Amino acid sequence: MYNPKSLKAEEFINHEEILETLEYAEKNKNNVELIDKILEKAKELKGLSHREASVLLACEIPEKINEVYALAEQIKKDFYGNRIVIFAPLYLSNYCVNGCVYCPYHHQNSHIVRKKLTQEEVKAEVIALQDMGHKRLAIEAGEDPVNNPIEYILDCIKTIYSIQHKNGAIRRVNVNIAATTVENYKKLKDAGIGTYILFQETYHKESYEQLHPTGPKHNYAYHTEAMDRAMEGGIDDVGLGVLFGLEMYKYEFAGLLMHAEHLEAVHGVGPHTISVPRVKKADDIDPDTFDNGISDEIFEKIAACIRVAVPYTGMIISTRENEKVRKQMLHLGVSQISGASRTSVGGYAEKERPHDTEQFDVSDQRTLDEVVKWLMDMDYIPSFCTACYREGRTGDRFMALCKSKQIQNCCHPNALMTLKEFLEDYASPKTKEVGEKLIEKEIENIGKDKVKQIVRERLKKIEQGDRDFRF
Ligand code: SAM
Repeated sequence: MYNPKSLKAEEFINHEEILETLEYAEKNKNNVELIDKILEKAKELKGLSHREASVLLACEIPEKINEVYALAEQIKKDFYGNRIVIFAPLYLSNYCVNGCVYCPYHHQNSHIVRKKLTQEEVKAEVIALQDMGHKRLAIEAGEDPVNNPIEYILDCIKTIYSIQHKNGAIRRVNVNIAATTVENYKKLKDAGIGTYILFQETYHKESYEQLHPTGPKHNYAYHTEAMDRAMEGGIDDVGLGVLFGLEMYKYEFAGLLMHAEHLEAVHGVGPHTISVPRVKKADDIDPDTFDNGISDEIFEKIAACIRVAVPYTGMIISTRENEKVRKQMLHLGVSQISGASRTSVGGYAEKERPHDTEQFDVSDQRTLDEVVKWLMDMDYIPSFCTACYREGRTGDRFMALCKSKQIQNCCHPNALMTLKEFLEDYASPKTKEVGEKLIEKEIENIGKDKVKQIVRERLKKIEQGDRDFRF
């Protein structure tokens, strides 16, 4: 029985409800009257239900699809302006006891090199990341209670936050580790993490169990209910995601939105972010063995439909995707991207990109300086801002601000000030030149004169060596 308020996975991600949703979407995919009504509702910026959004995803009328794309772009501008938040993943350990068939870290993979960073190695990684200009990380680890217990993850977080190298600092650590207990989520919260991220991989229970044949991750309910435990443990920024390619995308899309509706219904706050990874080639993994790979066009349509359905949720795209796809996705609603990522354990401290412990092939291999310049050349403001959660603007407080579009009054100036730090400390001369012009232009877009004046003063102070200003 479908019930978004239930705490049982099979009731809030209800298989029958998804099938009925897909049938409804299929039946109405050319129903112009209904589609127009849904688009009108989406324009109110209050979001769409999974059924409504599924109709847009199923729609095959080119003019209507273009309307969805235009609306997605508009919503993106309204809520996020032209800022793009930048982060990097940091792989701590690839020891794993699970049997996930799409992941090279799976337990049976005997030829991948297994590695777990020591605290000294974490330090070396963080210094390398700081030297590029990163301020925000997402830590990643396989699931292994012996090699990667929660104490190890907490030690790593402590090490990461403690390192101050030159003007560098990691100011926000997001965490992508396997589903765990309320008690462990409390510990992560106390360690000062930003978002807790956990990809559902697939919402289709039967496929989920086949794709995760062994290990603790096999338990669909435990995995699917993890965000409720995280919220019970006090983490109010959680990040959802689906690994596209494993199951039928329309099913996943409906499941993803039902998950978001569930979090809103139970905890009063939806997901902070949604990630849209696609299965990639990796050691022992051939993406072609999965039947449900999606084209770039469908991928873009999914992004646009997510954007109009949950306008206040950040959307993340990683370096699994190449420059061309990332560019297109930025238009359609992506608000955060990773840059200069290495998906191997200990990869950043190495001069050459190592492959022996890598989780997946990285398609976008540009440096952070190149990514920053690329964004600015397209008139985006690369943002290294981490202010919200450090100012206590998380969960419903963040969402309330975001929904009232007030977040832009802090985010825009914060983006400019953190970009200025990047330009001063890490940028190449050409990037610096482009960036200074962009900042000068963007200061004029700050609404309040008082704020404008404070930003100008702070930019001067950054030039003189001060750091870490925020609204
Ligand atoms: N081990 C944790 C867990 O079980 O949730 C999370 C960390 S894992 C390093 C991060 C994510 O990488 C997984 O949730 C999965 O979606 C993704 N991933 C695994 N194999 C992949 C592949 N071959 N291509 C792309 N992404 C992959």
